[in-house]
Amino acid sequence: MSCLFCKIIEGQIPSTPVFQDEFGYAFADIDPKAPTHILVVPREHISSLDEVDESKKALLGHLLWAAAGIARKKGLVNGYRIVVNTGEDGGQTVDHLHLHLLGGRMLNWPPG
Ligand code: AMP
Ligand code: ZN
Repeated sequence: MSCLFCKIIEGQIPSTPVFQDEFGYAFADIDPKAPTHILVVPREHISSLDEVDESKKALLGHLLWAAAGIARKKGLVNGYRIVVNTGEDGGQTVDHLHLHLLGGRMLNWPPG
């Protein structure tokens, strides 16, 4: 398996863990775009949001739930943003589904 995030999940590439359970793993982004920048990924390899079918509905909800819990634990009381870059136009660079949790500063809208 050549996927970067699969290697991170398996511990072959080091990461800074933030949360983990049966379905997901969350770790610090290596190039943070905000004071808090965490990636939440499914343990299962799913290449993008564009690939999910009905069988993944509960997993998607679980990841969103996990991200909200991490935000609460990190004390992001002023708010935060969850982003799922998808495909080329969406700016996705790693082909393993991931939620960006960004917070700790005022975030611009609309994004670039
Ligand atoms: P995206 O551009 O939406 O596909 O997001 C990929 C994210 O993965 C970027 O924010 C990168 O900074 C992050 N990233 C790439 N390599 C690593 C790594 N080894 N550990 C943690 N985050 C990484
Ligand atoms: Zn993967």
